[in-house]
Amino acid sequence: MKVLVLGAGVAGVAAAYYLWRDGHEVVVADRRPAAALETSFGNAGGLCPSFAGPWAAPGMIGKVLKMSLQRNSAIRFSFTPEPRKLAWLARWMGQCNAERFRVNKLRMQRVAHYSFACLKEIAGAGLPIEFDFHQDGTLQLFRDEAGLKAVPGITRALDEFEVPWRFLEGADAASVEPALAHTKAPVAGALFLPADGSGDSYKFATGMSAYLQGQGVDFRYGVEIRRLVGQGGRIAGAETDQGMLAADAYVVALGGQSPFLLRPLGLKLPIYPLKGYSITADVTDAGRAPQAAIMDEHNKVMISRLGSRIRAAGMAELKGYGLEVDAGRVAFLTSVVREWFPQGIALDRAQAWAGLRPMTPDGPAILGRTRYENLFLDCGHGSNGWTQACGTGKIVADIVAGRPPEVDMEGLTAERYAS
Ligand SMILES: Cc1cc2nc3c(=O)[nH]c(=O)nc-3n(C[C@H](O)[C@H](O)[C@H](O)COP(=O)(O)OP(=O)(O)OC[C@H]3O[C@@H](n4cnc5c(N)ncnc54)[C@H](O)[C@@H]3O)c2cc1C
Repeated sequence: MKVLVLGAGVAGVAAAYYLWRDGHEVVVADRRPAAALETSFGNAGGLCPSFAGPWAAPGMIGKVLKMSLQRNSAIRFSFTPEPRKLAWLARWMGQCNAERFRVNKLRMQRVAHYSFACLKEIAGAGLPIEFDFHQDGTLQLFRDEAGLKAVPGITRALDEFEVPWRFLEGADAASVEPALAHTKAPVAGALFLPADGSGDSYKFATGMSAYLQGQGVDFRYGVEIRRLVGQGGRIAGAETDQGMLAADAYVVALGGQSPFLLRPLGLKLPIYPLKGYSITADVTDAGRAPQAAIMDEHNKVMISRLGSRIRAAGMAELKGYGLEVDAGRVAFLTSVVREWFPQGIALDRAQAWAGLRPMTPDGPAILGRTRYENLFLDCGHGSNGWTQACGTGKIVADIVAGRPPEVDMEGLTAERYAS
C-alpha cells in the first residue's frame, strides 16, 4: 500500500519508520527543507514517561490566572477573544478536576511507557542514528519546604502507575547528580526517577529521515500541503503547492497545524499551541554539567544533557502562533541554569529557540481512525511529543495495517471530542 505521511516532525518520521517496516511504499511531505525544523527542533530533550501527564490538573485554573498576572512568571495566558483559543480554554478548564486528571493521566501514561519501550528498541536496533540518547533518569528538584509539600501527591501517582522513584534529602541529590555539588540553588529535596532518559529529537528525526531515505522512503521536503481532498468517505489526494500527491492511505502528523487541514473535511480537532522556549549551550567542563535530566519544579524548567551540550527549556504562553524569541524569557532560562550549574557550561554562547507545543485540552495525543476510511491521525502530542512519538507511530502503523494496536485505544482517538 502507498502511504503518505503529512509532516516530518518527530511524530511523522517515527510513523514513517513503522510504516516502512510494515513494507508499505511510504512518502513523507513537509513544508520545511529538512525534518524536525518546527516543534521537534529545540524541545527539552526529556524522554520522561515517569511524569507524562496532562496540563489540565486540579488547581491549575487558579495557578494560571495568578501567574498570568505576575511579571516574568513561567506561565502566561493571554485572554484576548480569539475564538479557537477561547474554545480550547473552555474545554481545558472542564478537564481541570481530580476525576478528569486521573483518567487523562492514565491514558497518557499508557502511551508514554509503551513509547519509551519502542524508542529503546529502535536505539538498540543498530541503526546508524545517533541522537545523544542516554537513560540517566530525571531528578525533580524542590527548592524549599513549600515545594516539598507536593511530593506525597506525586509519589502516590508514581506508585499508582508503578513508576520507580527514590526520595533524596537535600544534600543527597548530589549523590545521584554529582554536578549538583557546585550548585548555588537551594535544594530542599529531590525525587529521582531512574527509568527516564534524554535525547535529541531533532537528531533522531534527521538521522531517521536519512536512514529511511537510504531504504527507499520518499521524503518530499519544501512541499506545502494546502488541502486534503475528500471524496465519498475517502481522501482522494493532498493538494500541495507542487501539485497533487495521491496515496492509498494518509497519516496526518502536522503538529499544531493539523486542525487547519482537517477542518475543511468537517473534522474539528481542539489542538492549540502552547509556546515554550529553550536555550542550548556547549559543556566546557563535563564534571560540572548535569548528566541526569534536571526538573526545577519551582521554575518548571527542564535541563537535560544532550551529548556535549546542555538544553534548558520551559515556559508556557497561550497566545497564538507567533514564534518570536522573547529576550526576557531567554535571560530567565539562562539565569536558572547558571544558578543550578554556575560553571562548566558556555551560557554566554547559548542558542535560543521558541516552539509551539501542539496541546489538546485534555492531554493525550489524537490517534488513529477518522470518519474517512483512509485518513489516520497522529497529532496533538502536546508537551510530551518526543516521549510519545515512537509509540504513537507504531500505534498508527498498526491501525493502518489493520492490526489491533498493542495499546488500548480507549480515549486516544478523536471520538472523545464527538459530544
Ligand atoms: C519548549 C518545549 C519543550 C518541550 N520539551 C519536551 C520534552 O522534554 N519531552 C517531550 O517528550 N516533549 C517535549 N516537547 C513537546 C514536543 O517537542 C512536541 O510534542 C513534538 O515535537 C511534536 O512533534 P510533531 O511531529 O507532532 O510536530 P512538529 O515537530 O511541529 O512537526 C510538524 C511538521 O509538520 C510540518 N507542517 C505543518 N504544516 C504543514 C503544511 N501545511 N504542509 C507541509 N508541512 C507542514 C512542519 O513543517 C513540521 O515539520 C516540548 C515542546 C516545547 C515547545
